[in-house]
Amino acid sequence: MTLAGEVISIYEGRGATAYFGERVSMTEHALQAAFFAQQADAPLQLVVAALLHDIGHLLEAVPDFGEWKVDARHEEVGSRWLAQRLGSEVIDPIRLHVAAKRYLCATDSDYVAMLSPASVVTLQLQGGPMSPAEVAQFETQAAFRNAVRIRLWDDQGKVAGLKTPGLEEYRELIDSFAGRNT
Ligand code: FE
Repeated sequence: MTLAGEVISIYEGRGATAYFGERVSMTEHALQAAFFAQQADAPLQLVVAALLHDIGHLLEAVPDFGEWKVDARHEEVGSRWLAQRLGSEVIDPIRLHVAAKRYLCATDSDYVAMLSPASVVTLQLQGGPMSPAEVAQFETQAAFRNAVRIRLWDDQGKVAGLKTPGLEEYRELIDSFAGRNT
């Protein structure tokens, strides 16, 4: 099966679960993040990254939000799985999208104010805002700006009932990046 085929079957199988504490499903959340990336005229590798940024949540049994007491490091799980088929241009921003939240919380007070209640709860599990040393270290990573962009589309992608293109509409795009291990 192509990567897009696997991704679509994973979302069809488990994507109807609610996105932790939000009013959208996992599938809606992924589609909305990709939609906002497209609206921003993002390069296509970032549209794919936005679409797939949370696939790690679906690769393992998804606990209910109330049971989510430890951080499952879904960004590591997802980027490791995707690294079999996708290059760093797509997977690095995915791997860093939780760090990007901790970075934004340390560097942008407007960002903290717009976080959803569920996202504030998970921030604590994820280590809280970065320290100044962590901020400096994060900024040395080549993918840090792209990770921040993914993070902002991630935060936007929580709109109940928003109409977006469906998964099938990303099939060719996903597969156009699969197999290029850069
Ligand atoms: Fe997300």
